[in-house]
Amino acid sequence: MEYKPVSELQRILACLPEAITDAFNQGQPANYIPALAEVDPKRFGMAVSTVDGEDFTAGDAREMFSIQSISKVFSLSLAISHMGEELFQRVGVEPSGTSFNSLSQLEYENGIPRNPFINAGAIVVADALLEYVSSPKQDFLSFVRGLSDNIDIHYDESVFRSEFDNGQRNTALANYLKSFGNLKNHVSRVLDFYFYQCSLSMSCLDLARAFRFLAQDGRHPFRNESVVSRLQARRINSLMMTCGTYDEAGEFAFHVGLPCKSGVGGGIVAIIPGKMSICVWSPELGAKGNSLPGMRALEYFVKQSGHSVF
Ligand code: GLU
Repeated sequence: MEYKPVSELQRILACLPEAITDAFNQGQPANYIPALAEVDPKRFGMAVSTVDGEDFTAGDAREMFSIQSISKVFSLSLAISHMGEELFQRVGVEPSGTSFNSLSQLEYENGIPRNPFINAGAIVVADALLEYVSSPKQDFLSFVRGLSDNIDIHYDESVFRSEFDNGQRNTALANYLKSFGNLKNHVSRVLDFYFYQCSLSMSCLDLARAFRFLAQDGRHPFRNESVVSRLQARRINSLMMTCGTYDEAGEFAFHVGLPCKSGVGGGIVAIIPGKMSICVWSPELGAKGNSLPGMRALEYFVKQSGHSVF
Protein backbone atom coordinates (compact mmCIF):
# COMPACT_ATOMS: atom_id res chain seq x y z
CA MET A 1 0.00 0.00 0.00
CA GLU A 2 1.22 3.52 -0.73
CA TYR A 3 2.03 5.87 2.13
CA LYS A 4 -0.42 8.71 2.54
CA PRO A 5 1.06 12.23 2.62
CA VAL A 6 1.52 13.79 6.06
CA SER A 7 -1.44 16.16 5.52
CA GLU A 8 -3.64 13.06 5.48
CA LEU A 9 -2.73 12.23 9.06
CA GLN A 10 -4.97 14.89 10.58
CA ARG A 11 -7.87 13.68 8.45
CA ILE A 12 -7.35 10.08 9.60
CA LEU A 13 -7.21 11.20 13.24
CA ALA A 14 -10.37 13.26 12.84
CA CYS A 15 -12.30 10.20 11.58
CA LEU A 16 -10.87 7.91 14.18
CA PRO A 17 -13.13 8.26 17.27
CA GLU A 18 -16.18 7.66 15.07
CA ALA A 19 -14.57 4.68 13.33
CA ILE A 20 -13.86 2.75 16.52
CA THR A 21 -17.03 3.32 18.55
CA ASP A 22 -17.68 -0.42 18.85
CA ALA A 23 -14.39 -0.85 20.76
CA PHE A 24 -15.84 0.98 23.79
CA ASN A 25 -17.85 -0.59 26.64
CA GLN A 26 -15.96 -3.87 26.25
CA GLY A 27 -13.33 -3.51 28.95
CA GLN A 28 -12.66 -1.86 32.29
CA PRO A 29 -10.13 0.56 33.73
CA ALA A 30 -7.46 -1.07 35.90
CA ASN A 31 -8.73 -1.41 39.45
CA TYR A 32 -5.86 -3.15 41.23
CA ILE A 33 -4.36 0.33 41.68
CA PRO A 34 -7.41 2.12 43.17
CA ALA A 35 -6.42 5.60 41.94
CA LEU A 36 -6.60 4.38 38.32
CA ALA A 37 -10.17 3.15 38.73
CA GLU A 38 -11.34 6.73 39.36
CA VAL A 39 -10.62 7.89 35.80
CA ASP A 40 -13.55 8.45 33.41
CA PRO A 41 -13.47 5.28 31.27
CA LYS A 42 -14.83 7.03 28.18
CA ARG A 43 -11.85 9.31 27.62
CA PHE A 44 -10.07 8.95 24.31
CA GLY A 45 -7.10 10.87 22.96
CA MET A 46 -4.49 10.35 20.29
CA ALA A 47 -1.43 12.26 19.12
CA VAL A 48 1.10 11.80 16.35
CA SER A 49 4.49 13.50 16.22
CA THR A 50 6.44 13.25 12.99
CA VAL A 51 10.23 13.30 12.59
CA ASP A 52 9.77 16.62 10.75
CA GLY A 53 8.49 18.09 14.02
CA GLU A 54 4.80 18.28 13.12
CA ASP A 55 2.16 17.24 15.66
CA PHE A 56 -1.40 16.03 15.03
CA THR A 57 -4.02 15.38 17.69
CA ALA A 58 -7.52 13.99 18.27
CA GLY A 59 -9.92 13.99 21.24
CA ASP A 60 -8.38 14.26 24.72
CA ALA A 61 -4.80 14.36 23.41
CA ARG A 62 -3.77 17.09 25.87
CA GLU A 63 -5.32 15.44 28.93
CA MET A 64 -2.85 14.14 31.51
CA PHE A 65 -3.12 10.46 32.44
CA SER A 66 -1.07 7.92 34.39
CA ILE A 67 1.58 6.53 32.05
CA GLN A 68 2.29 3.45 34.23
CA SER A 69 4.33 0.86 32.30
CA ILE A 70 5.05 3.20 29.41
CA SER A 71 7.64 4.62 31.82
CA LYS A 72 9.56 1.35 31.43
CA VAL A 73 10.77 2.50 28.02
CA PHE A 74 12.15 5.72 29.52
CA SER A 75 13.97 3.87 32.29
CA LEU A 76 15.31 1.25 29.87
CA SER A 77 16.55 3.96 27.50
CA LEU A 78 18.26 5.84 30.31
CA ALA A 79 19.85 2.65 31.66
CA ILE A 80 21.05 1.55 28.20
CA SER A 81 22.51 5.00 27.56
CA HIS A 82 24.58 4.64 30.74
CA MET A 83 25.59 1.01 30.71
CA GLY A 84 24.95 -0.36 27.21
CA GLU A 85 24.75 -4.12 26.68
CA GLU A 86 25.95 -4.90 30.19
CA LEU A 87 22.38 -4.40 31.36
CA PHE A 88 21.36 -7.59 29.55
CA GLN A 89 23.40 -9.73 31.90
CA ARG A 90 20.73 -9.01 34.49
CA VAL A 91 17.57 -9.00 32.36
CA GLY A 92 16.63 -11.00 29.25
CA VAL A 93 15.14 -10.05 25.88
CA GLU A 94 12.51 -12.78 25.38
CA PRO A 95 8.73 -12.33 25.50
CA SER A 96 7.47 -13.71 28.81
CA GLY A 97 4.21 -15.35 27.72
CA THR A 98 3.03 -14.78 31.27
CA SER A 99 1.34 -11.83 32.97
CA PHE A 100 3.40 -8.70 33.60
CA ASN A 101 3.53 -9.28 37.35
CA SER A 102 4.06 -13.05 37.35
CA LEU A 103 6.08 -14.48 40.22
CA SER A 104 6.39 -18.09 39.11
CA GLN A 105 8.56 -17.47 36.05
CA LEU A 106 11.06 -15.57 38.14
CA GLU A 107 11.38 -18.52 40.50
CA TYR A 108 12.22 -21.13 37.89
CA GLU A 109 14.43 -18.78 35.88
CA ASN A 110 16.61 -18.02 38.89
CA GLY A 111 15.86 -14.35 39.33
CA ILE A 112 16.68 -13.18 35.78
CA PRO A 113 13.50 -11.51 34.45
CA ARG A 114 12.55 -12.42 30.90
CA ASN A 115 12.61 -8.84 29.62
CA PRO A 116 12.77 -5.20 30.83
CA PHE A 117 9.04 -4.59 30.28
CA ILE A 118 7.58 -7.05 32.76
CA ASN A 119 7.52 -5.64 36.28
CA ALA A 120 10.41 -7.78 37.55
CA GLY A 121 12.56 -6.60 34.62
CA ALA A 122 11.70 -2.95 35.18
CA ILE A 123 12.51 -3.30 38.88
CA VAL A 124 15.98 -4.62 37.93
CA VAL A 125 16.39 -1.70 35.50
CA ALA A 126 15.40 0.75 38.26
CA ASP A 127 17.99 -0.86 40.54
CA ALA A 128 20.67 -0.60 37.84
CA LEU A 129 19.81 3.05 37.21
CA LEU A 130 20.31 3.93 40.86
CA GLU A 131 24.05 3.40 40.29
CA TYR A 132 24.18 6.15 37.66
CA VAL A 133 21.84 8.92 38.82
CA SER A 134 22.56 11.11 41.82
CA SER A 135 18.98 12.26 42.50
CA PRO A 136 16.95 9.43 40.91
CA LYS A 137 13.47 10.94 41.01
CA GLN A 138 14.60 14.39 39.92
CA ASP A 139 16.98 13.11 37.22
CA PHE A 140 14.33 10.80 35.78
CA LEU A 141 11.76 13.60 35.73
CA SER A 142 14.21 15.99 34.03
CA PHE A 143 15.00 13.35 31.40
CA VAL A 144 11.31 12.91 30.54
CA ARG A 145 10.57 16.65 30.63
CA GLY A 146 13.46 17.24 28.24
CA LEU A 147 12.23 14.58 25.82
CA SER A 148 8.71 16.07 25.81
CA ASP A 149 9.90 19.68 25.88
CA ASN A 150 7.42 20.26 28.70
CA ILE A 151 8.44 21.29 32.20
CA ASP A 152 4.86 20.89 33.35
CA ILE A 153 5.14 17.11 33.72
CA HIS A 154 4.92 15.78 37.29
CA TYR A 155 4.68 12.67 39.40
CA ASP A 156 1.13 12.07 40.65
CA GLU A 157 1.51 11.63 44.40
CA SER A 158 -1.95 10.07 44.80
CA VAL A 159 -1.18 7.41 42.18
CA PHE A 160 2.22 6.82 43.80
CA ARG A 161 0.59 6.41 47.21
CA SER A 162 -2.17 4.16 45.86
CA GLU A 163 0.38 1.89 44.22
CA PHE A 164 2.70 1.93 47.20
CA ASP A 165 -0.16 0.91 49.51
CA ASN A 166 -1.30 -1.85 47.14
CA GLY A 167 2.07 -2.97 45.80
CA GLN A 168 2.31 -6.36 47.50
CA ARG A 169 3.06 -8.26 44.29
CA ASN A 170 5.78 -5.83 43.25
CA THR A 171 7.23 -6.03 46.75
CA ALA A 172 7.24 -9.82 46.45
CA LEU A 173 8.98 -9.59 43.05
CA ALA A 174 11.62 -7.23 44.43
CA ASN A 175 12.28 -9.49 47.40
CA TYR A 176 12.58 -12.49 45.09
CA LEU A 177 15.08 -10.61 42.93
CA LYS A 178 17.03 -9.65 46.01
CA SER A 179 17.13 -13.28 47.19
CA PHE A 180 18.69 -14.25 43.84
CA GLY A 181 21.27 -11.47 44.13
CA ASN A 182 19.78 -9.54 41.19
CA LEU A 183 19.00 -6.40 43.20
CA LYS A 184 21.89 -4.38 44.58
CA ASN A 185 20.07 -1.66 46.46
CA HIS A 186 17.62 -1.91 49.32
CA VAL A 187 14.21 -3.23 48.19
CA SER A 188 12.32 -0.20 49.50
CA ARG A 189 14.65 2.26 47.74
CA VAL A 190 14.24 0.47 44.40
CA LEU A 191 10.46 0.18 44.74
CA ASP A 192 10.13 3.82 45.70
CA PHE A 193 11.93 4.80 42.47
CA TYR A 194 9.95 2.27 40.38
CA PHE A 195 6.55 3.39 41.74
CA TYR A 196 7.42 7.02 41.12
CA GLN A 197 8.33 6.27 37.50
CA CYS A 198 4.95 4.55 37.00
CA SER A 199 3.10 7.48 38.61
CA LEU A 200 4.17 10.05 36.00
CA SER A 201 1.27 11.94 34.45
CA MET A 202 1.61 12.91 30.80
CA SER A 203 -0.64 13.62 27.85
CA CYS A 204 -0.75 11.80 24.51
CA LEU A 205 0.95 14.82 22.97
CA ASP A 206 3.75 14.75 25.57
CA LEU A 207 4.31 11.04 24.97
CA ALA A 208 4.17 11.21 21.18
CA ARG A 209 6.78 13.98 21.26
CA ALA A 210 8.96 12.24 23.85
CA PHE A 211 9.04 8.96 21.94
CA ARG A 212 10.15 10.55 18.71
CA PHE A 213 13.76 9.66 19.55
CA LEU A 214 12.90 6.04 18.79
CA ALA A 215 11.56 7.00 15.37
CA GLN A 216 14.72 8.92 14.49
CA ASP A 217 17.64 6.61 15.31
CA GLY A 218 17.96 7.73 18.93
CA ARG A 219 18.29 11.47 18.22
CA HIS A 220 16.76 13.73 20.85
CA PRO A 221 13.43 15.22 19.66
CA PHE A 222 14.33 18.78 20.73
CA ARG A 223 18.09 18.95 21.24
CA ASN A 224 21.05 18.42 19.02
CA GLU A 225 22.20 15.29 20.83
CA SER A 226 21.53 11.56 21.00
CA VAL A 227 19.40 9.95 23.69
CA VAL A 228 20.68 6.49 22.73
CA SER A 229 22.77 5.25 19.80
CA ARG A 230 21.20 4.14 16.56
CA LEU A 231 21.79 0.48 17.44
CA GLN A 232 20.34 0.96 20.90
CA ALA A 233 17.23 2.62 19.43
CA ARG A 234 16.83 -0.39 17.17
CA ARG A 235 17.15 -2.75 20.13
CA ILE A 236 14.55 -0.82 22.16
CA ASN A 237 12.14 -0.88 19.22
CA SER A 238 12.64 -4.65 18.88
CA LEU A 239 11.89 -5.15 22.55
CA MET A 240 8.75 -3.04 22.23
CA MET A 241 7.64 -5.14 19.28
CA THR A 242 8.19 -8.48 21.01
CA CYS A 243 7.54 -7.65 24.68
CA GLY A 244 5.86 -4.23 24.87
CA THR A 245 2.21 -5.21 25.24
CA TYR A 246 2.28 -7.86 27.97
CA ASP A 247 1.42 -11.35 26.79
CA GLU A 248 -0.57 -9.88 23.90
CA ALA A 249 2.50 -8.89 21.87
CA GLY A 250 1.66 -11.45 19.17
CA GLU A 251 -1.82 -9.96 18.69
CA PHE A 252 -0.32 -6.48 18.45
CA ALA A 253 2.28 -7.56 15.90
CA PHE A 254 -0.47 -9.28 13.92
CA HIS A 255 -3.04 -6.47 13.98
CA VAL A 256 -0.93 -3.33 14.37
CA GLY A 257 2.55 -4.36 13.22
CA LEU A 258 4.50 -1.65 15.03
CA PRO A 259 6.76 -1.53 18.11
CA CYS A 260 4.36 -0.59 20.93
CA LYS A 261 4.43 -0.14 24.69
CA SER A 262 1.27 -0.08 26.75
CA GLY A 263 0.46 0.81 30.35
CA VAL A 264 -2.43 -0.11 32.64
CA GLY A 265 -3.43 3.57 32.72
CA GLY A 266 -4.80 2.90 29.20
CA GLY A 267 -2.01 4.52 27.20
CA ILE A 268 -0.17 2.90 24.28
CA VAL A 269 2.78 4.38 22.40
CA ALA A 270 3.78 3.11 18.96
CA ILE A 271 6.76 3.85 16.75
CA ILE A 272 6.93 4.04 12.97
CA PRO A 273 10.71 4.04 12.49
CA GLY A 274 11.96 6.88 10.32
CA LYS A 275 8.54 8.54 10.29
CA MET A 276 6.66 9.23 13.51
CA SER A 277 5.68 8.29 17.01
CA ILE A 278 2.10 7.86 18.14
CA CYS A 279 0.33 7.81 21.47
CA VAL A 280 -3.25 6.76 22.09
CA TRP A 281 -5.07 6.76 25.43
CA SER A 282 -8.37 5.28 26.55
CA PRO A 283 -8.77 3.62 29.97
CA GLU A 284 -10.94 0.57 29.16
CA LEU A 285 -8.59 -2.42 29.28
CA GLY A 286 -9.03 -5.93 27.92
CA ALA A 287 -8.19 -9.12 29.81
CA LYS A 288 -4.45 -8.81 29.09
CA GLY A 289 -4.22 -5.23 30.39
CA ASN A 290 -4.11 -3.32 27.10
CA SER A 291 -6.52 -0.52 26.15
CA LEU A 292 -9.12 -2.03 23.82
CA PRO A 293 -10.07 1.26 22.09
CA GLY A 294 -6.36 2.11 21.96
CA MET A 295 -5.46 -1.10 20.21
CA ARG A 296 -8.32 -0.68 17.76
CA ALA A 297 -7.32 2.93 17.07
CA LEU A 298 -3.76 1.90 16.21
CA GLU A 299 -5.02 -0.83 13.93
CA TYR A 300 -7.28 1.67 12.15
CA PHE A 301 -4.49 4.26 11.88
CA VAL A 302 -2.07 1.75 10.38
CA LYS A 303 -4.63 0.52 7.87
CA GLN A 304 -5.63 4.00 6.78
CA SER A 305 -2.13 5.47 6.62
CA GLY A 306 -0.44 2.43 5.10
CA HIS A 307 2.39 2.55 7.63
CA SER A 308 3.79 -0.66 9.04
CA VAL A 309 7.22 -2.10 9.64
CA PHE A 310 6.23 -5.17 7.62
N1 GLU B 1 2.74 0.30 38.10
C1 GLU B 1 2.13 -0.86 37.54
C2 GLU B 1 2.51 -2.11 38.30
O1 GLU B 1 3.61 -2.20 38.71
C3 GLU B 1 2.56 -0.94 36.11
C4 GLU B 1 1.77 -1.94 35.41
C5 GLU B 1 1.61 -1.65 33.96
O2 GLU B 1 1.28 -0.56 33.51
O3 GLU B 1 1.83 -2.63 33.23
O4 GLU B 1 1.73 -2.98 38.52
